[in-house]
Amino acid sequence: MEIAFRKADSLKNHPDQSSLGFGTIFTDYMFNMDYNPDQGWHNPRIEPYGPMEMDPSTIVLHYGQTIFEGLKAYRTESGAVQLFRPMDNIKRFNQSGDKLCIPPVDEEFVLHALVELLKVEKDWIPSAPGTSLYIRPTIVATDPYVGLRVSQTYRFFIILSPVGAYYPEGFNPVKIWVTSKYVRAVRGGLGEAKTAANYAASLYATEMAHKEGYTQVMWLDGVELKYVEEVGSMNIFFIIGDELITPMLNGSILAGVTRNSVMTLARSWGMKVTERKISIDEVYAANEKGELKEIFGSGTAAVISPVGHMKFDGTEITIGDGGVGPVSARLFKELMDIQYGKAGDPFGWTVPVA
Ligand SMILES: *Cc1c(COP(=O)(O)O)cnc(C)c1O
Repeated sequence: MEIAFRKADSLKNHPDQSSLGFGTIFTDYMFNMDYNPDQGWHNPRIEPYGPMEMDPSTIVLHYGQTIFEGLKAYRTESGAVQLFRPMDNIKRFNQSGDKLCIPPVDEEFVLHALVELLKVEKDWIPSAPGTSLYIRPTIVATDPYVGLRVSQTYRFFIILSPVGAYYPEGFNPVKIWVTSKYVRAVRGGLGEAKTAANYAASLYATEMAHKEGYTQVMWLDGVELKYVEEVGSMNIFFIIGDELITPMLNGSILAGVTRNSVMTLARSWGMKVTERKISIDEVYAANEKGELKEIFGSGTAAVISPVGHMKFDGTEITIGDGGVGPVSARLFKELMDIQYGKAGDPFGWTVPVA
């Protein structure tokens, strides 16, 4: 499929790289493509970024039939641009789509479309330390119909947003609030899909956590409210003794690309890495015994987010000395070095763009 190009009448001013936040500034162009049952995915095009007109009855606005992805383009010291494991994101996009009854996209074509969009927008990829271009591929159901059924038509789009360093004041631990009242996903539900419903389900408890002075919620499983699943919209890791533990994928946990990269990297150092069920009681018992060394979240936005304090059932504990543990720090540095091309790429994770 040939990708059409429509030129913008005028281009935006680029933001100051030292004051970039997250997700508020978007580039000049976006990629769009449509789906209907007769033509399949068709009319791929790069055109000026702008609002989409939708009928108020559009299915996605009422029933949330939608999926998204999140990845980044990084500028290396030599000025080149690279992606980190983009095919893993695109494959997961189709896995999420399967759960939401959304027709699959051609994975190779989507990578090609993304690279073409990035070539057009490469001047938007910031170069200041820790900055990057956040990439948000999305599909929304577009049938105008106020009745519950699977849509026949869809819009696929990719938008780009230059983002600042996640830790502008240094690599900081967060305070997390464990809830045994609210859940984000249940067994047999949508937890393993990147879809709006899971984030809608997380808002209320996250507001509660903020009111209590905590940054993120730690989610327990939706069946027994006993086993740890995720933290905020990140995967979670524990170091107990000399073992790195992360909850095993069970259908209600998102299979993070960073999660997989963390496990691969830690195993390559000779660390013992285990995917298994881990209960909140086990975490607190390990803390009592002095064996709980580190806790951290993993995700594309922050890479590694160390946990300094956590509160469960009225008891707040400090993890280690409340600062950044050595494994968290090493993972953060080594992953960033691969993403920004400062180190070799022993696992073949990076894909050059331009
Ligand atoms: C996106 C996401 C993650 C992290 O996935 P990465 O591929 O590492 O960015 C973890 N949990 C949830 C719920 C997510 O939405």
